[in-house]
Amino acid sequence: MSHSLVTIFYIVAAVLFILSLGGLSNQETARRGNMFGIIGMLLALIAVTASDAVTSYGVLAVALFPAILIGATLARRVKMTEMPELVAILHSFVGAAAVLVGLALKLNPKSHVGLTPIEVTIHEIEVFVGVCIGSITFTGSVIAFGKLRGLISGAPMLLPARHVLNLIIVGATIWLGILFVGHSDHAMTMLLIALFLTGILGIHLVMAIGGADMPVVVSMLNSYSGWAAAAAGFMLGNDLLIIVGALVGSSGAILSLIMCRGMNRSLPSVILGGFGTGDGGGGTVITPEGEVTSIEVAQTAALLKNAKSVIIVPGYGMAVAQAQHTIAKITKKLRENNTQVIFAIHPVAGRLPGHMNVLLAEANIPYDIVMELDEMNHTFPATDVVMVIGANDIVNPSALDDPSSPIAGMPVLEVWKAKDVVVMKRSMGTGYAGVGNPLFFNENTSMLFGDAGENVDAILAQF
Ligand code: NDP
Repeated sequence: MSHSLVTIFYIVAAVLFILSLGGLSNQETARRGNMFGIIGMLLALIAVTASDAVTSYGVLAVALFPAILIGATLARRVKMTEMPELVAILHSFVGAAAVLVGLALKLNPKSHVGLTPIEVTIHEIEVFVGVCIGSITFTGSVIAFGKLRGLISGAPMLLPARHVLNLIIVGATIWLGILFVGHSDHAMTMLLIALFLTGILGIHLVMAIGGADMPVVVSMLNSYSGWAAAAAGFMLGNDLLIIVGALVGSSGAILSLIMCRGMNRSLPSVILGGFGTGDGGGGTVITPEGEVTSIEVAQTAALLKNAKSVIIVPGYGMAVAQAQHTIAKITKKLRENNTQVIFAIHPVAGRLPGHMNVLLAEANIPYDIVMELDEMNHTFPATDVVMVIGANDIVNPSALDDPSSPIAGMPVLEVWKAKDVVVMKRSMGTGYAGVGNPLFFNENTSMLFGDAGENVDAILAQF
């Protein structure tokens, strides 16, 4: 394929990626957005494969086909509850790719051929920055994967002088970078030491963030992976990779800000770590206690049948129980009975930004009855029944009442203001942040214990 044709493919693919992001910002257009993204990626793949950048189709095939096979199998098999881990580990691949591209370019004796001294310096800076960003992304994502999968404790690890340690690593990396670009005799050693140090920084940064702040880690690593891809684009002189990397990097950064707003945190305070420790505001964390009222399936169904308005609050447990399809059927029955049904979505519900929206869309719940936190809190006092399905942290009143709580200050869905609240979960166990929930002991709260999937099936059978 000629160079100008490749450029045309790149431009079309870049436009499709921008349209894709635009489409993904709205549930109604999300499918179309995804389609644009797939076509854009296909065009990019065709253009790269047919360009003169490929010198051996045999090598390309050996690298490409197993990767396509593994990726497709993993994506098809992954359960919705394992999605966050998959996303985290995929981010680590982008980081690893940037590191490998940087090392390969440094090792390639011909990579400076035909470059002016200024261009060589720029190229060296690109390699150094690319390797460092890639290394932080790689190790940070691997730790995030471990935390989300439960292989590493979710609690933040807070070393006594952690900020000083981070500053020392950043300072040392900059110094190594200056030596590296200054054509030190030991440039490769400098690069490898910087790779090691930034790898430690990635581990340390993510280990220090924990509990309820994990959504920000996921979106931040998404952003880092974009910048790592953009860095790889600079190193390889590939404009499309730079554009795509910048799109992912900046949209991930915006998503991090949105998640921070959802949790009432500032981005620097989350990045510096320390929240979710249980000593967030100082003082003793209050453990809720009191009498719990249980409810049976038949009573829950009767409550729902008699209600004029119902709000459903889904959480991580709904994803575990895969209860969304039955909930969609119950919603249909209730609406046929002239009951107003609304879904209230918290920005950090589940384990992935937009987790609940994806599940509800999968079950064909109409978009116009799915509302965000800020649209919902004023409607609870006028609501007859709230059904909390496998949610915990996002409906925890101690976020508002208890300054010593690890989730203090996080806006929550104020479900307790409704006339009746039914909470479906299997036990009195805590949610992701590991905090007790006083909601369960309220007079107007009834606990429907058991697997949410089995319970919603039984409720549906009562209609
Ligand atoms: P939580 O993790 O707070 O609570 C989920 C509840 O679901 C648990 O208490 C559990 O109780 C219950 N549950 C689990 N399985 C089932 C089942 N089969 N049937 C019924 N109940 C079940 O979830 P929330 O959605 O309320 O809050 C999300 C939390 O995750 C927040 O702390 C958020 O910060 C964090 N997080 C969010 C991310 C995101 O991007 N959205 C990423 C990473 C973390 P029991 O065991 O008793 O059944």
